[in-house]
Order: sequence, then C-alpha cells, then structure tokens
Amino acid sequence: MLEPLIRANIGRLQTVYDRLPSPARTLLTSARGWFLSRIRYSPEAFSFLKHLRAHEAWTPDDISSFQIRSLQEIVSHARAAAPYYANYPQIEIRNFDSLRLLPVLTRETVRENRAHLLSRDVPPRQRIIAGTTGTTGGNLKVAYTEKLARENWAFLLRQWAWAGVKPRQPRVTLFGARVVPITRTTPPYWTHNLPERQILLSIFHLSQKTAADYLKFLHEHRGTVLEGFPSVLSILADFALSRGETIPMRAVFTSGEPLYPAAREKIESAFQAAVFDSYGMTEYCGLIQQCEKGEMHLAPEYGYLEILDANNAPVAADEEGYFVWTGFLNRAMPLVRYRIGDRGRWKLGTPCQCGRAFPRVTPTITRESEILHCADGRIFSPRALNQYLKGATSLRFCQFVHDRAERVVVRAVAGSDLAALEMMKIREELQHLLGGSMRVTAEIASEPLVFPGGKIPLIVNRVEQ
Ligand SMILES: [Zn+2]
Repeated sequence: MLEPLIRANIGRLQTVYDRLPSPARTLLTSARGWFLSRIRYSPEAFSFLKHLRAHEAWTPDDISSFQIRSLQEIVSHARAAAPYYANYPQIEIRNFDSLRLLPVLTRETVRENRAHLLSRDVPPRQRIIAGTTGTTGGNLKVAYTEKLARENWAFLLRQWAWAGVKPRQPRVTLFGARVVPITRTTPPYWTHNLPERQILLSIFHLSQKTAADYLKFLHEHRGTVLEGFPSVLSILADFALSRGETIPMRAVFTSGEPLYPAAREKIESAFQAAVFDSYGMTEYCGLIQQCEKGEMHLAPEYGYLEILDANNAPVAADEEGYFVWTGFLNRAMPLVRYRIGDRGRWKLGTPCQCGRAFPRVTPTITRESEILHCADGRIFSPRALNQYLKGATSLRFCQFVHDRAERVVVRAVAGSDLAALEMMKIREELQHLLGGSMRVTAEIASEPLVFPGGKIPLIVNRVEQ
C-alpha cells in the first residue's frame, strides 16, 4: 500500500513538494484530489446522500427509533470487536436510559487505551489514521475507514444542498493544508485541485503585505463557494472591510473551530453571503450543522448526543453541559459515551422554520484564542498554528505565548517521556514558519494557561499591538 508509506514520510515529501514549480504542485494536488473525489463522489456516497435527504422528513419518533436501533448496533459491535469494551456490562438497550448504565469515556481514557479501542474487524491496512488536538492541544490518534470518509462527505453534501450548493460546485478553500512553500513571498499563494474544481489557498501567508494579492484573487473568483476556518475567513474579511471592499461569494461554510458572532457578522458583510457553520470532530462520532434558517441541527444518523453535567447526569432542559457522543459510523474505532471536552446546550421551544425535526444544539464557544501578529506583518490564526501540533502525541497541552514583540514561547504540559523531544520539534518547525524576524523558545510547564471562565487558549497574546 502506498498510503502508509506516504504517511510515514510526510515531512520529507512536504520538502519535495515545496521545491516543485507551481504547475507541478497543481498536478500533485489534483492527483490527491482525484483519489479523494473517487471516494467523495462515488455511487455509494450519492446513494447514502439520497437516504440522508429522505431523512429530512423524519418525525421525532422516526428519529428516536432510528437512534435506538443504531445504539444497539454500535454497542454490540463495540463489545464484540474492540477489546476495551469486552468487560462492559451486558445490558440490553431498550431505551435511551439504558445506555446510561454504561461508563462515560473521557478523552484521557481514550488516549491511554487507544490500542484496545481499535476494532479487530477492520484490518490495519484498511484503517485511516488521523491526529486531533481537540480542545486542549493534547493529541489523540484516531482510526476510521474509507467508508466513513465517504459517508462523512455525504453529510457535508447534504448541508451544501441546504445552502443551494451542488456537488463539485467550484470552491475556494482555506483549511490547514500547506499548499505553497512557507518561504514564498510572491503569488500564487494557492494551488488547484482540478477534479474537484477546488482552489486551495494557503492560510500560512496571510499578511498586511499579501492582503492585496489575496483580495485580488478573491475578486477574480467572486461568486464561488468559500470554505475555511472561521478565524482565517475573519482575517480575510478584515482585509476587505478595512479597505472598504466587499467581495460577493455564493455561500460560506465554516468549521474546525468556534465561530464567534462578531466573526460571523464580519464574514457575512465582507462576502455578502450567509455563513453555514458546522461542528464536527476528527473522532467522527457526531455532527451538528447549521440549516438555511440559521439553526444548528444535530445530524441524528451520525451519532447519539447526551448533554451531561460534571457528575455525568443529564442537564436540566436547556442548561449547559458536556457533550457525550456515541458515534454510529466509525466501525474502526467505536466510541461509546465519549466525553470530548466540548460543551453546549439543547435548544428547545418551537420547531425550526426549516421544517426538519432534527434536534437543535448550541455548542458553547470553548476554544477562545487570540491571533498571532508577527513583527514582519504576517498574521496567523489559531488553526494555522494548530497544524503544527498534529504530529505530537505526548503533550497534554501545548500553547503559544507571544510574550515579547519578537518572541513566541512554545509552552507544553507533558503527558509522557517523549514530551520534551516533541516540544523541541514543534519549536523548530514553528521557527521555520515564523522566520528570522521572530525567535521561538520552548518550555515545559506543569499546568496550561487558563483564561477567565476556564477557557484554554491556543495562542496567548501579551504584546501591545
Ligand atoms: Zn432548521
């Protein structure tokens, strides 16, 4: 298999990729896009999408009986296939209350028992591995399957349909891929994925100096779909609005971090389009997506959601609590009653005007963070820096403290013996990203820095702007 080889050598391949001329990068990005689009736009994905669209007519009773059935299936699969669940009590899940007889898994427990949570039914060569840094910067390696990648894409296409966007409609993407070399100082800051009619823009080259290039590019692609991390789109919106410009786009999709009301307002006004936000996770155990009426709906076919208090008891009505997910789709690493660390509340009251009976949930904004402004004018969103944590598995927390105009401290809380080594690697890579105008140092700390209200920011900014 080529894929494990590529994954094992990703650092070296990135160096090779960075040295290629722009057309060759487009060719490689498109080749990868071709593989992905075979999964994303396969007949199976479209048939799954068709089912998903039919489910939009479900009544609350339809939703409950589907979820009970799916819980029975995934719990018995977990018990039979993953050693961790072998000793779980033999209960029959007749209703949602019986699920509560099973323990709640914390993120720490999943990290520590990862190997035993992998399903024996899915051979290692069929596992796709992804790293997630979650809310706190502590890394977790998650396994999933190609089938799940396909199904997950169908959920995304369902939300596109809510926005009136068709599959393969041209789009401009600003997620975490390193699509052009860090050292590049002239356009293009983008590369093309031709099979998907997608252009990937770098989130690592945003700067007051490059703002005009980014805006010119967006003007040339006005009317297309725009997707990306909220903090990144918010930086772009600032570029436009501060110059008194607006760039009408078809629709905007955000995910990967919380969307603050102020950021939504800026993005909608700069790009003259509605923002469709979504909340998901690399563990692939749950999904919440915004509909065309602006409400956040649970995708009932994706996973079962409980909102629990600190003692794992259900919260009262619409009180805030912890999200505890039981994913229906991930057969490679089933997660039953997984407390991911994020919080939110049910939204009760009159049904949504969109007509769907899918329950509504409001995720709480927990990942408050700041933006890094470098001395040379470059601007990095929390998600840009977060990409540098994905390889590390030994850190409980990792934060970036901008404490002097020209210095950033990588501040890590160790989870195992490898921590110092991984922290120094992050320091080195971040130094490469930030370049000569900044100095990056590193330190091990015993606890993370916490903002008022208990939020643990990725970037802490102590420099007067
Ligand atoms: Zn709705």
